[in-house]
Amino acid sequence: MPTYHYRCKSCGYDFTEQQSFTDDPITTCPKCGLEQVRKVFSAVPIEFKGSGFYRTDGGSSKSSDSSK
Ligand SMILES: [Zn+2]
Repeated sequence: MPTYHYRCKSCGYDFTEQQSFTDDPITTCPKCGLEQVRKVFSAVPIEFKGSGFYRTDGGSSKSSDSSK
C-alpha cells in the first residue's frame, strides 16, 4: 500500500498515511481539525518500486552482514 505524505497548511502538522489507490485523500487535519491538509509530493521513500531503488548510498558498506 502506498504511503502518502500530507501537511496541514493551517498548523503545519506533517504526517504520512498509508492508503490504497481507491481511498479518498485526506483533507482534514487530525491535529487541528481544519480542512487545510494538502498532499505533499516530496522525497518520501515510497516502496512500491521493487528492488533497484534502495541502494543509492554509494558508500563502502558490504552486503554481507556476518555475526548475526
Ligand atoms: Zn492542522
